[in-house]
Amino acid sequence: MGAGAVDTERLIRALPKVEQHVHIVGSTKPETLLWLMEKSDTKPFKTVDDVRSFFQYRDFPHFISIYCTVMACITDETQFERLTYEMLDSNAKCNVQYVEASFSAPDHVLRGLDYGKMLNAINRGVSRARNDFGVECNLRIDLVRNYGPKVGMQILDLIESKNDNIVSVDIGGSEERFPPKPYVPVFQRAKKMGLHLVAHAGEAAGPESVWEAVKQLGVERIGHGVAASTDPKLMQYLLEHGVAIEACPTSNVKTGVVKTLEKHPIKTFFQKGIKVSANTDDPSMFGTDMNNEYLQLYHRLNFTIPQLFKLTLNAIESSFLSEKHNDNLRESSTRQYQRLMNNSNK
Ligand SMILES: [Zn+2]
Repeated sequence: MGAGAVDTERLIRALPKVEQHVHIVGSTKPETLLWLMEKSDTKPFKTVDDVRSFFQYRDFPHFISIYCTVMACITDETQFERLTYEMLDSNAKCNVQYVEASFSAPDHVLRGLDYGKMLNAINRGVSRARNDFGVECNLRIDLVRNYGPKVGMQILDLIESKNDNIVSVDIGGSEERFPPKPYVPVFQRAKKMGLHLVAHAGEAAGPESVWEAVKQLGVERIGHGVAASTDPKLMQYLLEHGVAIEACPTSNVKTGVVKTLEKHPIKTFFQKGIKVSANTDDPSMFGTDMNNEYLQLYHRLNFTIPQLFKLTLNAIESSFLSEKHNDNLRESSTRQYQRLMNNSNK
């Protein structure tokens, strides 16, 4: 690699970024899983290297098994503080300024963990990370569609009783088996509660799933959205209605949603003018971080530096921050970007 290429990579790493789609549990590091296992008295792995090789992505069922293993090892609500803090630490190392982190509350509430204690622990992690790294974070609650709308309503009851830093709800989980439509009353109620609306869609199912999410649920952002690229009318609809797409390129390659990164539709969405951003989804499990996402887009999908920064601006524009915070974030990120570009041109 020549000196110019090294400088460009350094510049990409230094770009201000925003992460809109990252799951707290999916960010658990191998050493942290070992710590969780020690605390929960289940220790099938002896060393961090053993856990690392378990974390190597093989296929989708194996990914689910990693995710469920981590989940089952979280036995104490306070452990969420470390998980959240470390997720934000990794993001801060990629110069991420702001994160909207996903917490799949029903996964843990239904196992008997206390919602309020978990939320307090997560927010302790958020405030420690703010003090230590200057990174900001709000939360989105994934209602996990597999549990059904009734559980969704129960989680809304909990959010109503305690809503620290929660800006939106989302439905993740098995998109093929659980289409969005039954969630209409849940999302209507969430909207009345002042929450923003997101759905994972167009990842494991086709464009009809994205149509349902936008038309029936009225979501403002789509997680993944890959299948939307096969339906020009849908892309036009997303553009005209300002519905944003939280693209997760590496995740989609690993889980086989797209064959190769070169075939990922993020560039198509970008060129169409849709507010698309780049995100990690489950960074530890997919072996990625925000720097890697931006670097891959640069090397393999020919995103230019200004285009990469536009992804950051898209994420800011479609963020769920208040108008004032949004303006501040856009201005400070733009200042950082201009300084970097001026220095790199010297
Ligand atoms: Zn996700």
